[in-house]
Parts: sequence; C-alpha cells; structure tokens
Amino acid sequence: MIPDTEARVNFEEATRLKQLPPYLFVEMDRVKRMHLAAGKDVIDLGIGDPDLPTPAPIVARLKETVEDPQNHRYSLTEGLPQLRQAIAQWYHRRFGVSLDPQTEVLPLLGSKEGIAHFPLAVANPADVVLVPDPCYPPYCSGTLFAGAEVVSMPLLEENAFFPDLGAVSQKAVRRAKVLFLNYPNNPTAAVATREQFQEAIVLAKDYSIAIAHDAAYSEIAFDGNRPISFLELPDAKSVGVEFHSLSKTYQMTGWRIGWVCGNARLIAALSKLKANADSGIFQPIQWAGIAALEADEAILRQTVATYQQRRDLLVDALGEAGWKVPKPAASFYVWARLPTQESSMAFASRILEQAQVVLTPGVGFGPSGEGYIRMSLTVATERLQEAVARIVRIL
Ligand SMILES: *Cc1c(COP(=O)(O)O)cnc(C)c1O
Repeated sequence: MIPDTEARVNFEEATRLKQLPPYLFVEMDRVKRMHLAAGKDVIDLGIGDPDLPTPAPIVARLKETVEDPQNHRYSLTEGLPQLRQAIAQWYHRRFGVSLDPQTEVLPLLGSKEGIAHFPLAVANPADVVLVPDPCYPPYCSGTLFAGAEVVSMPLLEENAFFPDLGAVSQKAVRRAKVLFLNYPNNPTAAVATREQFQEAIVLAKDYSIAIAHDAAYSEIAFDGNRPISFLELPDAKSVGVEFHSLSKTYQMTGWRIGWVCGNARLIAALSKLKANADSGIFQPIQWAGIAALEADEAILRQTVATYQQRRDLLVDALGEAGWKVPKPAASFYVWARLPTQESSMAFASRILEQAQVVLTPGVGFGPSGEGYIRMSLTVATERLQEAVARIVRIL
C-alpha cells in the first residue's frame, strides 16, 4: 500500500511516457494469468526468449572470472579492449568486414539498450525517425523519448517485407535523421538482399540520414542460409551502424550483452550518452561474451538445427490442416497470415481461450501487422508439437 503522505502527492508520469502506444496485450495477459491460476496448461508461443540453456563454455567462463576481485569493480563504459577486439575478429571472420576495435565497436548492455538510446544520441526534437511497421517496439519508444517524430514505413508482403523507400514523403525524408532497419526481421522473419540495403544507403547518403540496422538474428538462419551484414556494402560505414546481440545467438537474453559497430561518429555520440547514463557491463559477463564469440561453431549449428526442426514441425502440421504458411528463412519466428477473417487480436484471443496457446497478434507490432500472427519457436519441441495439435483441432 502507498503510505498516506505519499498518496497525497499527485505524481504523474512524464508526457514522453504518456506518448507511448498502449500495451495491446493487457487483455490477453489477463486471460493467460486466469488460465494459469485455474491450473490450466498454457503454452506460450508469444515470447521470443530461447528455452535452450546458455552453452556450457560460456557459463564456465563466467564462473571462472567472477571469482577474480579484479572483475568486481566498475568496468570501462566502452568495454574491455579484449571484448572489442574479439568482436572485430568475429565480424571479420563472419562477414569479411574490418572494424577498428577502438572507434568502430561499442559493447552494449544488450542491443535493446543501444537501440533505445540511439535516437537520443543523434536526433533532435522535430527531427524524423523512419521506423518500419510492424517492428520491434524500442525503435518507436527510443524515438519518442528523444522528442523526435516517428514516421512509419509499412512492411508489406508484396515488397518482401522491405520498406518502399520511394513511398516515404519528401517532407519526412528531408527531416529524417535516422532510418531503422532490421534483417533478419522481427516479426516478419524476412531476410534482406544486398540490393535492398544498397537502396537504403543511396537514400541515406542523399539526405544525410543515419541508418541503424538491427541484426539481432543474423546467426539464426536455416537451410544453409547466411544473412549478410549491412556493413558488407560499400559506403555502409559512411552512413550507418549495425546492432548485434549475443542474446539470440547464444541463448544469453538474461545476460545483457550486445554491441553496435560501424560509423565512428555515430558510435562516439552513443558512447558519450552512455558514459553519462551507465557504467559498463559487469566484467565477468564481458569475458563470457568473449568465450561466446570464440566458441566452437558446432554449438551454434546445434541451436539452429533445433529451431529448424521446430519450424518444419510447426509449418508442416499447419499446412496439413490447410493453413498454408511460408517457412521462414531466418529468425525464430513464424509470421503467418491469418486463416480466418478475424482481426489478429480476436484470433489470438480465441486460440488462447479455446486452446490455451498464446500467439502474438500482428497488430501489436504496428498497424501493418494486422492480418498476421507471430508464433515463436522458443519452446521445447514436445510442447510445440502439443501446441500445434491444439491449434489444428480448433481451426
Ligand atoms: C531480441 C531482439 C533484440 C535485442 O535483444 P537484446 O537482448 O537487448 O540484445 C533486438 N532486436 C530485435 C529485433 C529483437 O528481437
């Protein structure tokens, strides 16, 4: 209970918080909790949080390094030089892109932290930030916190879920400071091509827009597919940065470690902001991050094989029941056009009510997500099997 004296002070949250779009899943959360409280067996395909454990060599490195008092103190905001070096080496091995670990790599407390802070570091009030719709929500909230204006770019299936950059109004393009992109994409699971990135770079150069490419799912790709880095394109480094994360690649969502790399001036701006807002990543986690970046590739192959098996199981079972859904080439989401004329919210609510399976309504990621739902492959294979059996029964 709030003490009486406090209750009389009428604190209100700041306007910038009031501007955030309403949380659309309140009602679904309520029903989910009600089912759980009633002892029902709810299967949650809503959250994108790996069920698999963090690989053992990474956990082992944390255990070793946490014993050393040298690692108990404040760390450098810009991260251990060894971590920045390991990131640059990984990047070169993986993408053939050279990065200066001093100026072109900045570790983050998870990529979400850097993404949400990026507009605050580079955009001014009255600037525009171009944001895909549907999208990962921090692109919008970060923009609103900076007092800048969100201009949405619809991701349509007929454009392979890449924004039609030519359709953005001239007025918005002229005022734009940042352009967010995200491939492999959450929630649509689309992968971008070299040509699509090239188109964005041309626009960014013409109008001095900073591209912020979120590559959180770059390593989660199927059928031998290897998503490219935006920084592989000529001139990319002159106009943008790329965000990466160890969360999805190595099942480290709770550890909070990621990085941004690319354009040195943009990175310096974000680094300056962070030096005033946080004091770096706990060093044992940085050492564990180095262990992840140097880990045997077989670990990642095993993870990807598990998701691919689940993807096939889910999509094949839905297909047999008459719900034709394309197999995603990357990410651990299936983005499915609804099999009925219901709204995505109504469909998800009905599946939750009747099958006790949580799905994410597409509209929760933005208006252009309407007509779709997202299913996550991050539950144990038997649970996924059970979930799809229940969904199919009531289709
Ligand atoms: C999960 C996710 C992230 C970030 O994860 P962190 O744990 O903050 O590194 C970033 N972008 C997208 C699109 C995601 O889905």
